[in-house]
Amino acid sequence: MNIVLMGLPGAGKGTQAERIKAEFGIPHISTGDMFRAAVKQQTPLGQEAQKYLDRGDLVPDEVTNGIVRERLSQDDCAHGFMLDGFPRTVPQAESLDEMLSELSRELDKVIVIEVARERLIERLTGRRICKNCGATYHVTFNPPREAGVCDQCGGTLYQRSDDNEATVANRLDVNIKQSAPLLNYYKQRNKLVTIDGEQAIDKVFIDVKAALRGQSR
Ligand SMILES: [Zn+2]
Repeated sequence: MNIVLMGLPGAGKGTQAERIKAEFGIPHISTGDMFRAAVKQQTPLGQEAQKYLDRGDLVPDEVTNGIVRERLSQDDCAHGFMLDGFPRTVPQAESLDEMLSELSRELDKVIVIEVARERLIERLTGRRICKNCGATYHVTFNPPREAGVCDQCGGTLYQRSDDNEATVANRLDVNIKQSAPLLNYYKQRNKLVTIDGEQAIDKVFIDVKAALRGQSR
């Protein structure tokens, strides 16, 4: 099963990725992890990527694509993979199609965990972190027993500066704008499956499983 997992920040993609990995036994390949591994192993492409990362520049597509290609050729991907964070653009999606075709494989589905922008803002701005131990809470979904105080250590809870509403809304809008052509690309190719991410986590996963098994819900 060869899949791409997509979802805006706060949509619960990470949680679903863990469950998909456990249920279907396919590796979860996030772009960040892949870059870190390539840099750590000092592969030729990893060294190339490091030059850009050290400068704080975007890694060019040819390097990113090469790292993805190497990763997908590894043994643990023989029975499938779940890509997360790649592709980000239509040219990257076209490159992915090419490299899969070279491997005589095909992308099965692109799963999108969809949550309304307003809900995402609510989720992302409600996060609170303990200054002392780093434990995370949410004012609505996982509140501490006493407002502003950590249950575990009594430390003070704070909001990260990039969790404020203006920053969160801007980050989401940039993401929404960037992902639109990509969603369209996969929709036109009948790969796209949209999952309602506003349901309870267990229910979201039931829908994900149904989509991946090709059952009707
Ligand atoms: Zn604490």
